[in-house]
Amino acid sequence: MYTQFHCVRENKVIVRNPNIANLKAGYLFPEIARRRREFAATHPSSVRIISLGVGNTTEPLLPHICAGLVEGAQRLGTVEGYSGYQDEGLLELREKISEVFYGKKFSADEVFISDGAKCDIGRLQTLFGTGTKVAVQDPSYPVYVDGSVLSGAAGAWAGDGYCGIVYLPCTAENGYFPDLSLVSENSLIYFCSPNNPTGAVSTREQLSELVKTALSKGCIIIFDAAYSEFIRDPSLPKSIFEIDGAEQCAIEVQSFSKPAGFTGVRLGWSVVPKALKYADGESVNGDWTRLSGTVFNGASNIAQAGALAALDSEGVQEIRRLTDFYLGNACLIKNALQGLGVSSVGGDNSPYIWARFPGRDSWDVFAEILEKYRIVTTPGAGFGPSGRSFIRFSAFGRRADVEEACERLKDS
Ligand code: PLP
Repeated sequence: MYTQFHCVRENKVIVRNPNIANLKAGYLFPEIARRRREFAATHPSSVRIISLGVGNTTEPLLPHICAGLVEGAQRLGTVEGYSGYQDEGLLELREKISEVFYGKKFSADEVFISDGAKCDIGRLQTLFGTGTKVAVQDPSYPVYVDGSVLSGAAGAWAGDGYCGIVYLPCTAENGYFPDLSLVSENSLIYFCSPNNPTGAVSTREQLSELVKTALSKGCIIIFDAAYSEFIRDPSLPKSIFEIDGAEQCAIEVQSFSKPAGFTGVRLGWSVVPKALKYADGESVNGDWTRLSGTVFNGASNIAQAGALAALDSEGVQEIRRLTDFYLGNACLIKNALQGLGVSSVGGDNSPYIWARFPGRDSWDVFAEILEKYRIVTTPGAGFGPSGRSFIRFSAFGRRADVEEACERLKDS
C-alpha cells in the first residue's frame, strides 16, 4: 500500500525551485561551524576553542534598554497599553528614527520598521525581480549575493561567481573602495559601509562618487548601514542620506542588532524615500508599502518599545558604551595581529578586522589558525572572490576570550 502511494507521489511531485538549486554552497557560517565541530572531534585537547569568527553579539543588554523591553511587554498585559498589528511600525518609533538618524529629513511613512536588516535585504530583492542586474562589493556580506540567487537575478554559477552579478573588487590596491566604472546601467548596487567583512569605511568623497554613479547610470543603491554606530571619526558619513541626491537613488537598511545587542531581540528599519522612482515614474516607496503589507506583518511591539528606549538620551549613551566595548576588543585584536607582522584594515570605526595573507588560500589559513591557536576565524573566500587571501576577525566576543586569543597569538 505504502509503496504504491510512494510511486504515485514520485510521479507527481513538484519540481525544485531552480533558484535554490543554483545556490552554490551552504551558507558560510554553518560551514564554519561544521569545520569547527569536525576539528574538535578529530583533535581532542584541553585547550578550548575560542571564536573570533561570527558577528554575533555576546554582551548582555544594557539596563535602560532592557527596562524598555520589559515595560513594553508589561504594557501589552494592560487594556490601555495593549496593541496588535502595527504594519510599518509604531509611529512614534518611525518619527524618532527620522529625528535621531536623519535630522527629521524623512516623514514617518518613509521609515519602515523591520525584524532586522537581513530580513529586509531578502524582501527588498522581490521589488526588483528576476531580470535585475546586480552589482556587489567584493567581498561582501553573503546575503546580497545569495538573496539575488534566490530571486533569480544572479544567473548560474560560473566557477568564481554568478554570471548575472557584477563583482566590484575591493582590494588593498584600491583602498577597499571599488572602481565604479564597472557598474552597468540600471543595476541594483549593494553597498555596505562600515563594511562587513573588510571593516573599511567609505569617505564622504567616495560615497558622493557612488551616488553620482547611481544617478548618472539609473541605478538604485541598497545601502547597508548596520555598523554606522561604530564610526568614531566625525568626518566619516554614517548614512548614505548625508550625501546630496541620495534620496533619488538609494534605500538604506539599518539594524539595532549590533549597536543595541538586539541580534536575538530582532529589530531594524529601512528608509525608502518617496523621491525614489522607477524608470516609469512609479514610486518605489509605494511598492515597498504594498509588498511589506503583503509578506510581513510588522516587527514585535516589545522589540519596538526596547528600540524607543535605545533612542532616548540614556539609550544612546548605552549604545555608545556597548559599541566602545566591542571597539576595545577590535583594538586588542589589531595590535596582536600587528605583533605577528600581519597587515590588516578595519577595527577603528568598525567591529571587523580584515587581515591579509598574500598568496595564501583563506580556508588553509583558517585551518592553520584553528590548529595552531585554537581560534575560529572567518575565511575571506566566503565573502567573495576578492577575499581569497584574507581572514576576517570579529570583535564580537567576551573580553576574557579576546584577551586569551590575543595572548595565544603573541605566544606563537
Ligand atoms: N547587514 C550586515 C552588513 C551584517 O553584517 C549583518 C549581520 O551580521 C546584518 C545586516 C544583519 O542584521 P540584522 O541582525 O538586523 O538582520
